[in-house]
Amino acid sequence: MRKFKDSVPFLDLKIQYSAIRGEIQTAMQRVIESQMFILGPEVTALEAEIAEYCKCSYGIGVSSGTDALLVSLMAIGIQPGDEIITTPYTFFATAGSIARLGATPVFVDIDPGTFNIDAEGVDAAVTSRTKAIIPVHLFGQVAEMNQIIEVASRHGLRVIEDAAQAIGAEYKGRRAGSIGDLGCFSFFPSKNLGAFGDGGMVTTNDPDLADRVRLLRNHGGRPKYVHGVVGGNFRLDAIQAAVVRAKLPHLDGWIEGRQRNASLYRRQFAEAGLTGGEGPVSLSVELPERRHIYNQFVIRAHQRDELAAFLAAHQIGAEIYYPLSLHQQECFAGLGLQEGDHPHSEKAAKESLALPIYPELTPPMIERVVSCIQDFYQGAARLLPLK
Ligand SMILES: *Cc1c(COP(=O)(O)O)cnc(C)c1O
Repeated sequence: MRKFKDSVPFLDLKIQYSAIRGEIQTAMQRVIESQMFILGPEVTALEAEIAEYCKCSYGIGVSSGTDALLVSLMAIGIQPGDEIITTPYTFFATAGSIARLGATPVFVDIDPGTFNIDAEGVDAAVTSRTKAIIPVHLFGQVAEMNQIIEVASRHGLRVIEDAAQAIGAEYKGRRAGSIGDLGCFSFFPSKNLGAFGDGGMVTTNDPDLADRVRLLRNHGGRPKYVHGVVGGNFRLDAIQAAVVRAKLPHLDGWIEGRQRNASLYRRQFAEAGLTGGEGPVSLSVELPERRHIYNQFVIRAHQRDELAAFLAAHQIGAEIYYPLSLHQQECFAGLGLQEGDHPHSEKAAKESLALPIYPELTPPMIERVVSCIQDFYQGAARLLPLK
């Protein structure tokens, strides 16, 4: 018996694995028998399958989502001193890969409704040093791409989509990773399409960029041992590719499960009187003409830290994505940014809480999460008035 009566883990990959154990083991065995572990036919096959799934022309398998970003920035020729516009409310890798090339992340605050970069603010952040924009499709919902592409084309900038959390997400009928110049995906185990370790993919419709990424991911050697440019080891290994290939046919079903769970949460929060008007919880906006794939279901909550501790004490998993806006990270102190410079991002860092959303969650588990949150606020209301 699973013990979900008591506990609701934040993520339980064992349930997914037990449902497809045979398919995964067959795929891994195929690689083991071939004894070809780096790139090779398994990676080539996955590249074609991901490109097709993302409705774009090319896929290039790489070692992680972080390396997808790094090699994409290298492929568009980013140099020290260049500026890249991005969001301060994202996983560290988005800005970290910019900084690793000696370039400068220029943050534009988020739209509080979606947690994504506020496209209205992008134009004003462009300077003569700006080379590219990296919108992040945070939590699985695509950023306002039409506006971002419009600004980029007006200023001759490249657009790299950080789609690490958004495989299969759509924007006006187009898939994440097929809209900008390059798309970056992660197969980190907790992403919607997770490997058994690190892995990633770059997607593009541009044959020259695809070729450049392919060259750079393997030390820039072409032919082998002849190096016209300096690349790195950003290769995807075949066992990870085989695992991801075995999972890909299940992805749309899993996404539907996540969407079903998100609707259940929305309904139950409303029925519990926790959301709307004066309610202590608010839910992010799901915009029209989008397919939100819910890599995370993130609420904003009054007394967030106390609520998180209360949930933990009741064996309910929850995580804070992200506890600190990137402009306030110590490693970016050199940018000279202050508290108050990106107020929406700072506020989100204080209020956001991700709840369990994986497809195998059952309605009783979701009920338990919501009723525990209700208990917290009823208890809290007795102690101090909610604002
Ligand atoms: C996970 C993630 C990455 C990095 O992917 P890794 O595979 O862990 O290197 C980059 N950006 C965002 C938004 C992510 O969520």
